[in-house]
Amino acid sequence: MHNIEAAAELLGGIGVARPEVELAVRRLLEAFGEDVSRQGLEGTPERVARMYDELLAGYHVDPQAMINDALFDVEYDEMVIVRDIEFYSLCEHHMLPFIGRAHVAYTPSNKVIGLSKVPRIVDLFARRLQVQERMTRQIADFLTAAIHPHGVGVVVEGLHLCAMMRGVKKANARMVTSAMCGSFETNFQTRQEFLALIGRNGGSILT
Ligand SMILES: [Zn+2]
Repeated sequence: MHNIEAAAELLGGIGVARPEVELAVRRLLEAFGEDVSRQGLEGTPERVARMYDELLAGYHVDPQAMINDALFDVEYDEMVIVRDIEFYSLCEHHMLPFIGRAHVAYTPSNKVIGLSKVPRIVDLFARRLQVQERMTRQIADFLTAAIHPHGVGVVVEGLHLCAMMRGVKKANARMVTSAMCGSFETNFQTRQEFLALIGRNGGSILT
């Protein structure tokens, strides 16, 4: 099971050091030229520290506890797809949100994972400081380590607030990344089937 731990790519330590974050946010507000004692900002450093604790929780999940009760032996080798998994992450370059949807598919080899666990796997990697390309790859690698399927396909569509808010061309704000492993990489038909199944309903990734 050590491969699952490794694939989870966790951070050591006990997690977000709230007092330090609180202090840093206070300093940040001062550096903005704000009056940190004014009513609206009074509780902000503490709130932001608590928020990061939640938004960065993915570094400290116990991956085995997360999936252990949800692995099932089955004789089934058709593609399993979980579409439109909402995710919320933070880009590591600006610490601004990127949000969107992940589509995860695999072709089982004697093992499947409970449907409700797939969004948890996405969360495991979304709730970190991330780049979308790496997050996409991590989801695919983790699923591979957990159930050793014939293949895995992951497509992630994300809207990056750092691009949208900073007046870069809006077209660049929407990013699509993919990771194809095993049969999804080697078998054109498998890949096409996956892409057709997630492309069917197209449209905006936020509706
Ligand atoms: Zn960014």
